[in-house]
Amino acid sequence: MIYSKMNNTTTDIPTKIDWAAIRAQFPVLDQEINGKKLVYLDNGASSQMPKSVSDRIDAYHKHEHANIHRGIHSLSQQATDAYEATREKVKNFINAGSLEEVIFTTGTTDSINLVASSYGRKNFKEGDEILVSEMEHHANIVPWQIIAEETGAVLKVIPMNEAGELLMDEFHNLLSDRTKMVAVVHVSNALGTVNPVEEIIEAARERNIPVLLDGAQSVPHSKVDVQALDVDFFTFSAHKMCGPTGFGVLYGKKNLLEDMPPYRGGGDMIDKVTFAKTTWNDLPHKFEAGTPPISAGIGLGAAIDYLTDIGMENIAEREAELLAYATEKMSRIDGLRIVGTSDNKASVISFLLDGIHPTDAGTILDQQGIAVRTGHHCAQPVMDHYGIPGTMRASLSFYNNEEDIDRLGEGIELVKEFFG
Ligand code: PMP
Repeated sequence: MIYSKMNNTTTDIPTKIDWAAIRAQFPVLDQEINGKKLVYLDNGASSQMPKSVSDRIDAYHKHEHANIHRGIHSLSQQATDAYEATREKVKNFINAGSLEEVIFTTGTTDSINLVASSYGRKNFKEGDEILVSEMEHHANIVPWQIIAEETGAVLKVIPMNEAGELLMDEFHNLLSDRTKMVAVVHVSNALGTVNPVEEIIEAARERNIPVLLDGAQSVPHSKVDVQALDVDFFTFSAHKMCGPTGFGVLYGKKNLLEDMPPYRGGGDMIDKVTFAKTTWNDLPHKFEAGTPPISAGIGLGAAIDYLTDIGMENIAEREAELLAYATEKMSRIDGLRIVGTSDNKASVISFLLDGIHPTDAGTILDQQGIAVRTGHHCAQPVMDHYGIPGTMRASLSFYNNEEDIDRLGEGIELVKEFFG
């Protein structure tokens, strides 16, 4: 039992979640790195996996493994059922309208490439504009550049201010009849900014422009409802939400997906193949060529069960608490500058230390068992905006605690002492 409930006459209110018990479900956290207890603050890059998820993947390999979708034998059907159960879980988790709208990919990068390549090749032409923002991860820039080069479309960029917030007036000015796609990050991995995606979608909707949201950093940390958002495409990765690497999701509205040509060809995505003509399988399989990472798909299902059991609202609340604690603590450190200071932030703190290169600082922190990210975080235009080579980034998850943040604070003081 993860949380205790107080019986109220009208409703069941979760009162107290045992976060320490939750943390204990992550075996990887219970170890020493460089002789010190591990403090893992690189959840934005990849989150850790609870035992229930790794056990589920292990059980599949031990007892259920077979190729899916094509076998008449029982083991294959069992594997297919387990894999397809994840589609149902994803559908419910993000409130997709149907199973056909849930496409399995290898991750956010793959999902965005799918849309850029398939939708873009069919719909973009010379002079069309693709609108992205200055705070995109490279995964939401480069696929659009590739398709722009091929089709003659051009990329336009929504700028941001010093706090790391999109300039919404500029966004509205950039929208025009030439705009054929708006592709924006929901939550920035480099800055933590939560973007005003409702406003973006509403404005694009008025002009009938499709919107893709990169949800790699939003789905793991808050409740996302794609129908309430009325978003056209939504992408995320299993490994950032307590699941395994090599698996992810593209949500797309059915009418758009139906109109899009296949992305990759091969087994599973076809209806009938002859040398003269090949026809495509129905959604979602039209976009799923070849044998997928089956165990990873089943792992994502277990991760969704795990997160749902805790409750995304509870996760969001706990992470907001940790972010506030960390922001307060780090703001008090002399010579530390937080990069990305929007009022609306997810649990990411990018920061710089006066006169100390982020990589040098990261190395000293690592010697103390503290894992933070250093560098440009695959968002070089963000670094260019601030005229910096990179930052240090502490990205928090619900299984972190105040002690982790205190250890980070002590670690930073040691870095400062080390570099005099
Ligand atoms: N977009 C954002 C905002 C991200 O944080 C990441 C991962 N750092 C990606 C896209 C790419 O995700 P993946 O590497 O899982 O494809």
